[in-house]
Amino acid sequence: MARHKKTFTVGWLYHDLMNIYGDRGNILSLLKRAEWRGYDARLIELGRGTTKRMDEVDVFFFGGGQDREQALVYEDLLEHKQPLLERAVQAGASVLAVCGGYQLLGHYYQTAEGERFPGIGLIDVKTEAGKKRFIGDVVVDIGHELHLTPTTLVGFENHSGRTFLGPKAKPIGVVRLGFGNNGSDGTEGCLQGGVVGTYLHGSLLPKNPHLADHLIRAALRRRGVDELLPLDDSVELSAHERILERAQRRPPSRALNEKPPRSTAAGQ
Ligand code: GLN
Repeated sequence: MARHKKTFTVGWLYHDLMNIYGDRGNILSLLKRAEWRGYDARLIELGRGTTKRMDEVDVFFFGGGQDREQALVYEDLLEHKQPLLERAVQAGASVLAVCGGYQLLGHYYQTAEGERFPGIGLIDVKTEAGKKRFIGDVVVDIGHELHLTPTTLVGFENHSGRTFLGPKAKPIGVVRLGFGNNGSDGTEGCLQGGVVGTYLHGSLLPKNPHLADHLIRAALRRRGVDELLPLDDSVELSAHERILERAQRRPPSRALNEKPPRSTAAGQ
């Protein structure tokens, strides 16, 4: 009698609109790393208007998108996805949100023209775009919230948004190279509950397998899984190393002395 394979489900929010700078690679990385551990890895695409099977999802992925795409998805996020996403995170699901997706999980994203897209406030951050776009390689020294090895994340950023964290959100770490959240306080990303927000495209997870496993492990904890079978990540980590070496040859990014928006206390 065939042994019933455990399932592992990835939910891809707005797969058709919020997917730039290689974001799709994060989906492949999550599915493959679960498959290599013997899980029946499945993908659910969660475009506008559907919330089908959101309660089955272990890890949600929300990719990046230009202002135009964010304008097309934020209402659906508020009207259809918010309650189920909140419930799923409370029930132990993980979320990885990159750039435009990261911004819309916060309180709001305001474009450089001043148009404001309300977010769902799942994470205590707010974002206001500035004139200068932050573009280039990023190296992050991971803070003590995440006990990961290597203690760095590498990726690529391209955004006009400046994100500021409120008291409930913690940064992933500090930038060694790049602008990160806002180009002024040196932080990158956000950790709150099961949500990981970041500006790192590239795609992120193939070059940072330790973060991929953190998301998978966190989601499987509710099934009593504490450890994942180790994988041979030599290829992934040599790509990681390559970016670190390249970064060392770069002059450090110059922080901009821009004023943060008025207090980031929730929703004001
Ligand atoms: N439109 C947003 C910004 O410019 C997000 C861009 C992105 O996802 N790369 O900041």
